Amino acid sequence: MEAPQPRISVVLPAWNEAGNVAPMTGRLKETLDALAESYEIVWVNDGSTDATGDALDTLAAEDPRVRVLHFSRNFGHMAALCAGLEAARASGAIISMDADGQHPPEMIPELVARWKNGVDIVQTIRNPSGREGFLKAATSRGFYRVLSLLADIDLPNGAADFRLMDRQAVDALNNLPERVRFVRGLVHWVGFEREYYHYDPVDRLSGETKYSFFKMFTLAFNGLTSFSVRPLRLSFVLALLVILLAFLYGVFVLWAYLVGLELTPGWASTLIVIMVLGSAQLFAIGIASEYLARAYVEQKQRPVYILRKARAPRDAAE
Ligand code: UDP
Ligand code: MG
Repeated sequence: MEAPQPRISVVLPAWNEAGNVAPMTGRLKETLDALAESYEIVWVNDGSTDATGDALDTLAAEDPRVRVLHFSRNFGHMAALCAGLEAARASGAIISMDADGQHPPEMIPELVARWKNGVDIVQTIRNPSGREGFLKAATSRGFYRVLSLLADIDLPNGAADFRLMDRQAVDALNNLPERVRFVRGLVHWVGFEREYYHYDPVDRLSGETKYSFFKMFTLAFNGLTSFSVRPLRLSFVLALLVILLAFLYGVFVLWAYLVGLELTPGWASTLIVIMVLGSAQLFAIGIASEYLARAYVEQKQRPVYILRKARAPRDAAE
């Protein structure tokens, strides 16, 4: 028999987090029990090769409010997060967070309180600290800056996948058909009323970070290319630059001729032909890129707009 629909879902992707899933489930239950709302905890085992899967099966067998999805292999954090958001059955709010304790479950009551005040998306922001190391801090800051420059998505630095979303925002997100899913960007894209909630960084309960440099790079690259076609327009910029150079060189040659400066014969005509052909080619690539950009945008099939329901009180369970 289907369990009754809960009001709140908590979604957690986990990849090789054997030491963390039981303590996290315990802390979540304690916090959620105190909230006096019906809830479920949805774990997504992203193809773990350690004891995570067994630990999760045990937790689910002990309590029907704990559910587990097992991936057939490691598909990555974003895929696991999306699977959890699609599986979440809550009628009210869905909270996503990491499995490693860096997103403290004890913050959930505050997120839920803001949601009850009418906010659709409560996005947490990790306060900066000296602990993450210079390189990680600098690359992360740089990434968010480039993203806002290229994609007009203003994500504050420190905004990770610890957030509460109202059911209607999750439905909107789940209905975006594109396959490469940079969830932080998509959440921004769907709109709705949002609020930021700052918190101080916490250390991992156990284990190492699962984000290798390669995974970080892939995430950043997917984020940029999913939300911006501006790199495709680079050819136009280069074409203009080469035309400008050709023009300046032409002016120089003319000046040299007028003042009677000796230039190597043949140089001017050769260079100018190369530059004119070069810029013509770049220009042609630019035009092709424009069509490619258009096809890319169309192919993602994002809706033209998303509607938001009229405000309704969220105090009582429906
Ligand atoms: N994760 C996952 N699949 C992956 C990589 C990470 O499900 O391929 C999960 C991981 O178990 C954790 C969350 O994504 O719950 C964030 O990963 P992590 O804590 O290692 O990232 P960091 O906090 O170091 O940026
Ligand atoms: Mg972590």
